[in-house]
Amino acid sequence: MADNFAFLLPVMMATFSMVFFCLARMRLELPSAGAWGLAFGSGAAAFSVGLLPISPEWQALVGDVLFFVSFFAYGDGLLIHFGRPRYLLTRLSFIALCLVADLYIVFGVQSLELELLLVDSALTVLLAVPVALVATRPRHFVDQALVVVAGLVALDTLVRIVIFNTVLADDGAFAEYVSSQYSFFLQISGGALGLCFALAALGSILVVIVSRYREAAERDPLTRLYNRRGFEEALRLVSHPGASIGVILTCDIDHFKSINDNYGHAAGDVVIEGFAKQLADSLPRDAIAARFGGEEFIVYLPGASLSEGRAIAEAVRNAFGTKSWQHLEIARRVTISVGAAPRMPIDRSIHDTIARADRALYAAKAGGRNRVEANIPYPVAI
Ligand code: GH3
Ligand code: MG
Ligand code: MG
Repeated sequence: MADNFAFLLPVMMATFSMVFFCLARMRLELPSAGAWGLAFGSGAAAFSVGLLPISPEWQALVGDVLFFVSFFAYGDGLLIHFGRPRYLLTRLSFIALCLVADLYIVFGVQSLELELLLVDSALTVLLAVPVALVATRPRHFVDQALVVVAGLVALDTLVRIVIFNTVLADDGAFAEYVSSQYSFFLQISGGALGLCFALAALGSILVVIVSRYREAAERDPLTRLYNRRGFEEALRLVSHPGASIGVILTCDIDHFKSINDNYGHAAGDVVIEGFAKQLADSLPRDAIAARFGGEEFIVYLPGASLSEGRAIAEAVRNAFGTKSWQHLEIARRVTISVGAAPRMPIDRSIHDTIARADRALYAAKAGGRNRVEANIPYPVAI
């Protein structure tokens, strides 16, 4: 059974390694994928050193080097995934020191106990330090699972040091090592945790890919505000029965075409970005803002009354209308018109409210621009 298991573990790790290397090559900009590929690949190789036709001492040394590489890369995967500094020089110097000591122990002292103590301690440090560095970073469940499993792998290594170097220490013949209890337990705990680790790392990469595509589908690349699809999705998340009070504002930059015509499209883009920034600065935290296209923006103010919505719209209009655009050599002020509409019981969906806010926006344009107009289908308390 021990032999079967010994065969299974490297195969599993090698398979995950290939999956990660394939992901790394797919031009998806997943920098942690290469590190995970190296970690699981060298882990698989480390567990297979018994197959090498070399002396047990050399098998031990090659295995130790591969474990160092593997745990270094696990740590690297974590640090890269969570955007932390990699401390490459420090970690590589630590490995170099451990290797020198390992060489001396394997070929000089020839003590299996000491070798295991050194290597397992070094592996614990190589993984535990990155785990500590990223511990506060996870923002969602999959990343939390990744950090917890990585922590458990480090803990498992630490527990092995205590058990095998204190309780079960024997005279430590190298030849017995490969088929020893130690080796078998190492494979069982390593196998179970290794599988969880690989799945958590894969899951965290999949979350990155999905969030990236979701971000691209739901955000406007120029302003980073929601686009129409993102706006509707964000609205769906806040719109539960009973949360039907709120105000829609539709905002449109006045005479924007003349900015493009007179100062160039790039200057027009800067003005659009400037308006998005103005919204971010002036709107309440729970407001949902989107760019619906061109120089048209929409805002949902959940829970706001029409008078509150109007006051917020006036604040945005005033602040944006007094901005200077001298740096773009635009001498005039750039203004906006706003249409405001409260959600009403007669609205079948938010689209009815948006349609009324649009009508108010047309009224604001027709009334001379640089103003806020409201649309209400029948008298309501404001
Ligand atoms: P009004 O006061 O009636 O709103 O007039 P306007 O000139 O602002 O409106 P109009 O709809 O005539 O022009 C909008 C212009 O916005 C036309 C289009 O070329 C330009 N536009 C659309 N998208 C972008 C963009 O992403 N960047 C830039 N710079 N211009 C854009
Ligand atoms: Mg316009
Ligand atoms: Mg327009």
